Amino acid sequence: MIDAGQVKDPKALERMLGELESLHRRISDLEDVEIEVMERLEEAQNAVGRYTDDLAALETEIATVEAAHEKTSGELQTQLAAVKDERATATSGMPEDLMALYEKLRAQKGGVGAAALRRRECGGCRLTLNASDLGIIAKQPSDEVIRCEECNRILVRTGESGL
Ligand SMILES: [Zn+2]
Repeated sequence: MIDAGQVKDPKALERMLGELESLHRRISDLEDVEIEVMERLEEAQNAVGRYTDDLAALETEIATVEAAHEKTSGELQTQLAAVKDERATATSGMPEDLMALYEKLRAQKGGVGAAALRRRECGGCRLTLNASDLGIIAKQPSDEVIRCEECNRILVRTGESGL
């Protein structure tokens, strides 16, 4: 327009140049804003990348823990079944009243209803029996149910009882 000589009014020309200059400043400001936005976008994308990596690592860890848990759980189930079988074999043929006493004591005594008498010591409460108690126990018939004086548990006589 300037070259074409269509603007005859110098003041109008000055205004137009002023507007043009202010438009250039506005473009430059907007470009700065655009750069800033791009930088923030890049930071955000980097953060998303890091979080995605963290998430993948956590998912791998969860899968590992779950697999370990499943394996342990399976092993425990197998052990439990074996212990149940063992218990069934060990208790088969036991008198019912003895089993009832054992179950009652087991419930009262933290899961241990009977304990071995070894080296004159009750395996349940660790009390060492004195000579006179041992003498009494030694005289009892082998099918007599012996109880610990201290903890009341059934005492199972063994070859190492010290009788
Ligand atoms: Zn005892």
